[in-house]
Amino acid sequence: MLDDMLDYTEYLRNRPVWQPIPQEVRDLFQKPMPIKSGDMAEIHAMFMQNVLPYAIGNAHPGFMGWVHGGGTPVGMMAEMLSAGLNANLGGRDQIPVEVERQMLRWVREIFAFPDTASGLFVTGTSMANFISVLVARTAALGTAVRETGLYLEHGLVAYASASAHVSIAQALDMAGLGTSALRKVALDENFRMDVNALEAAIRRDLEAGLRPFMIAATAGSVDVGAIDPIDEIAELAKRYQLWLHVDGAYGALGMLSEEIRPMLKGMERADSIAFDFHKWGQVPYDAGFVLVKDGELHRSTFASPAAYLQRETRGMAAGSPWPCDFGPDLSRSFRALKTWFTLEVYGTEKLGRSISNTCALAQYLKQCIEASPMLELMAPVALNIVCFRYRGDDKINADIVVGLQESGIAAPSTTKINGRLAIRAAIVNHRTERRDVDALVNAVIELGGKL
Ligand SMILES: *Cc1c(COP(=O)(O)O)cnc(C)c1O
Repeated sequence: MLDDMLDYTEYLRNRPVWQPIPQEVRDLFQKPMPIKSGDMAEIHAMFMQNVLPYAIGNAHPGFMGWVHGGGTPVGMMAEMLSAGLNANLGGRDQIPVEVERQMLRWVREIFAFPDTASGLFVTGTSMANFISVLVARTAALGTAVRETGLYLEHGLVAYASASAHVSIAQALDMAGLGTSALRKVALDENFRMDVNALEAAIRRDLEAGLRPFMIAATAGSVDVGAIDPIDEIAELAKRYQLWLHVDGAYGALGMLSEEIRPMLKGMERADSIAFDFHKWGQVPYDAGFVLVKDGELHRSTFASPAAYLQRETRGMAAGSPWPCDFGPDLSRSFRALKTWFTLEVYGTEKLGRSISNTCALAQYLKQCIEASPMLELMAPVALNIVCFRYRGDDKINADIVVGLQESGIAAPSTTKINGRLAIRAAIVNHRTERRDVDALVNAVIELGGKL
C-alpha cells in the first residue's frame, strides 16, 4: 500500500487529472453490507482499480479547479502514524495535545497574535467560520445566550463582501441568527469590500435600531482571490466596536510568503481568523484552523461541565483546558500531527516559496491570456486565481471547461464575473509548473476552435 501511494504521487503526471466514471465502476459500490470477514488484499486491489483512478485529482499538477490543496508524501506518512496511534484529541493529559498546543503557538506567531489567543484544529474553514460567529455572538450577547437562545429577537447583523464565501451566511444560519442577518457589502473595482459602502450599511442599521456585531473580511476571495482592505476595515470595526473576523481560508497562510505578507496588513488586528492548512499549506485533508484573540471568550463560548469530563490536576484527566472546551467536537483526530510534520520537514520558508510560486504561475497565465487574441482576462489577478474566457458566449466557455475536465489534460472550474461565465484557474498545488499552465492555455484555445 505504501509503495502504491508513493508511486501514485511520483507518477501523477502520467495520469489524467480526472476521468469520467464508467457505470460498471459505480455499480461496484452497490454491494450489500458484508456479514462475513473478507480478504484485505482483495479490498486493496479493489481500491487500486476502482477508487484511486476515479478521485477528483487535486493532487495532480494539472488540477486548477476550485481551491484544493495538493498534499505531500510527508503529510501522508504522518497520517499513517496518527491512524496507528489512534489518539483522541478531545483532551486529557497526552503529548498529542501538546503537539496541537505547539501548533497553536506557531499559528499565533504567524499572525502576530498574543499568548492569550486560543485556537483549534477543525475540519475546515466552514467550521472555523461557524465557531468564529458563535464567539462573536458571545461577545455581543454574553454567555447567557447559550441558555436563553435567540428566541427573543436580538437584532444582530453582520457584514461581509458580496463575494464572501457561502459558509459565512451558513454560519449565521447555524448560529440561529438567520442568513438575512448578513449584509452583503458592495465590491470596489478590484473585487474587494468597498469600505465606504460598509460604513454606510453600518450607519443605516444603527439608525434602524439594529445591532451590528461583526464584520467578516475575506483574505483571498474564492472567486478571484481578492483581499479585502483589512486595515481600513479594522479601523471601522474599532470605531463601531464590532468583532473583526477574517475568512482567510486559503489566503491567510500568504503570511508565509514575502510577497504576499504586505497585502495582508491589518490581519493581526482581527478578533478571529479562520483558515485551512489543507489548501496553500499543502497538508492532506482535513486541517482547518480557528484562531481567536480572546482565548477566555472562546472557551466560555463552548466549555460545558459534565461529570464524565471531570478535570483533575494529576492522572490522565489533567491538562485542562482541553481542546473540546473550544469547539463543538469531543472526539477529535490528530490533525496537528500531519501539520507539525509538514512544518518541521519543509519549514515555513519553503512553504512560503511554494505559495509565492503559485502566484507567479498565475501571473504567467495572465500574460499568456493577454498574449492570445482568442482569450480575454475577466478580473484582476491579485493572488493565485485567474478568471478568463475564450472569446465567445457563456455556453462555449462552459463546454470548454467540461471538455477540459473530460480530456484529463487540465481541470479548471467556472464562476460568474459580473454576470458572465468565466473559466477559473486556481493554482494552489505545489506540483503545478509552467508546462501545466501552457497545457491549459493550449487546450482551451484548441477546444474553443473546435467548438
Ligand atoms: C475554501 C474556502 C472556504 C471553505 O473552507 P473549507 O475548508 O472548504 O470548509 C471558506 N472561505 C473561503 C474564502 C475559501 O476559499
